[in-house]
Amino acid sequence: MIVELISVGTEILMGNIVNTNSAYLAEQCAGLGFSLYYMTTVGDNEERLLQTIKTAKERSDIVILSGGLGPTMDDMTKEMVAKACGLELVEDEDCKQHIKEYFEKRKLHHEITENNWKQAQIPEGAIVLDNPNGTANGIIVQAQQCHLILLPGPPNELKPLFEQAVIPYLKTLQDASFYTAMIKISGIGESYVEDKLSDLIQGQTNPTIAPYAKEGEVHIRVTAKGANEQEAKQLVSPTVDEIRNRIGDAIFTEEEAVTLEQQVIALLEKHGLTLCTVESCTGGLLSGRLVNVVGASTVLKQGFVTYSNEAKQKLVNVKAETLQQYGAVSHQTAKEMAVEGSRVSNCDVAISITGIAGPDGGSKEKPVGLVYIGCCINDHVWTKEFRFTGNRSKIRESSVANALTLLRYHILEQYEGGFQADK
Ligand code: ATP
Repeated sequence: MIVELISVGTEILMGNIVNTNSAYLAEQCAGLGFSLYYMTTVGDNEERLLQTIKTAKERSDIVILSGGLGPTMDDMTKEMVAKACGLELVEDEDCKQHIKEYFEKRKLHHEITENNWKQAQIPEGAIVLDNPNGTANGIIVQAQQCHLILLPGPPNELKPLFEQAVIPYLKTLQDASFYTAMIKISGIGESYVEDKLSDLIQGQTNPTIAPYAKEGEVHIRVTAKGANEQEAKQLVSPTVDEIRNRIGDAIFTEEEAVTLEQQVIALLEKHGLTLCTVESCTGGLLSGRLVNVVGASTVLKQGFVTYSNEAKQKLVNVKAETLQQYGAVSHQTAKEMAVEGSRVSNCDVAISITGIAGPDGGSKEKPVGLVYIGCCINDHVWTKEFRFTGNRSKIRESSVANALTLLRYHILEQYEGGFQADK
């Protein structure tokens, strides 16, 4: 089955928004075992959109369109899909009701304007997918050997719709079953991972093994094709076991939806540990990532942002002599930040970050990208030096990813009998 994506929106062509929908949809399609051959972005222009849809319809079995389902004049995806398929637009009672209820629920007291009702129009015979997060429902049009799937542009609407309604639909179109395991690794680089797995990657047929780097992590997608899901799962299993053997505890999950911060919180919770963060160059980025986890409050008690030397002294008692003798970006400062952070906040664990995110502030001895991370668990303290590359935001993100990795590493070491790098 050949899949093609069409992103609709002049904003994307102008560079005003980043096309994250395409990346998301492409990843999902790969996981489902579909071959994605084309990705097109087209502006809000009738003629070009119509032509793009016609071309896609001819060469692909499934066309997924995102954006342009809104109520305004420049939203025309539905209209052009209907035209390309030779279908009329008809008013759909359920869609009308959905819009009415959506407005009522949100207590949007202003009148529903005429153009909102435009969203209740669907190509005749189309399947409507309920969108609980917006007024534009998803739509599936089955036309002459091609399935056209229309989704709203906002990612917070597109993703749940895709997961809840589109995936089950796509699964009915698969001529075989696919099973994907997502192995997520942190603390070791992509080239190291590839080197360790090179013979497996080179010899791959079924399952396929695809490693790629992602925000301080390496992900490996292992996908197998089988007559049914059970068979595909069985085909994936020995490869996953072998990867686990070779990579060890650097693997923090084998599930697509699980994040590193989730695993760290779960680990702390499992061992009844409370956590505090003490951040300098990351300025709250680490605590922000931890707070993303539902239920983080059982573990995360406090976050200090100690950006200035004064704040380091005042909030977490870093000694003036330490700052003077070793500097704010040093093993010693990271150590005091962690030790005192845990004491002041009365937490079992503290993690500290101090570094130079740049672009200014670097020197020959202490270049931009130099970061120290400290970890204190029940009065034991470790610090580690890192030298990150990239711009300011990349350095800050790398610091956070490595702080989470380090924290996980030390908890495993202290509470679970060690960290097995290569099992
Ligand atoms: P709405 O009902 O909100 O009008 P829509 O289906 O008409 O939805 P668009 O108007 O095309 O969607 O886009 C709405 C917003 O969704 C954009 O301003 C942007 O924030 C986001 N968006 C659209 N397309 C993409 C995309 N490909 N990637 C990421 N975000 C997108």
